[in-house]
Amino acid sequence: MIILKVLWQLPQIILGALFLAFCFIIGKFHGDRKEIEWEGKKYYFWQINWRGVGVSLSEYFMIMSYHYNYNVHVHEIGHAIKSKKQGLFYLLLSGIPSAFRNILNRIFKFGPEWYYGKYPEKQANDEVGLTIEDLL
Ligand SMILES: [Zn+2]
Repeated sequence: MIILKVLWQLPQIILGALFLAFCFIIGKFHGDRKEIEWEGKKYYFWQINWRGVGVSLSEYFMIMSYHYNYNVHVHEIGHAIKSKKQGLFYLLLSGIPSAFRNILNRIFKFGPEWYYGKYPEKQANDEVGLTIEDLL
């Protein structure tokens, strides 16, 4: 069963492993994993020393700057749940739109309401019952 789960999410798992390796090479890997419990299940976040960076590339590669609070971690769990549902299409359906909107938000400074209020960020929040206010 785990093999099917890994194969279904393989593109984001490979990208997650490569990104974590990249963090290690450039000296941003914090060397630890943070345990977050949500709805009775434990999730593990690779901790990086890279402010403002948080990415969910399957439940195996949730890579987060250590300064983020609990709700931002839960938001990333929402993306991990989407990864399980969207599988091979996750990067196309969620990853690329999310990265694109993230870059636009950094350039034009639309703010967190704009960023978290629309696809695919809102859908990640909906998976875990968060509102935009929870992330402000
Ligand atoms: Zn997000």
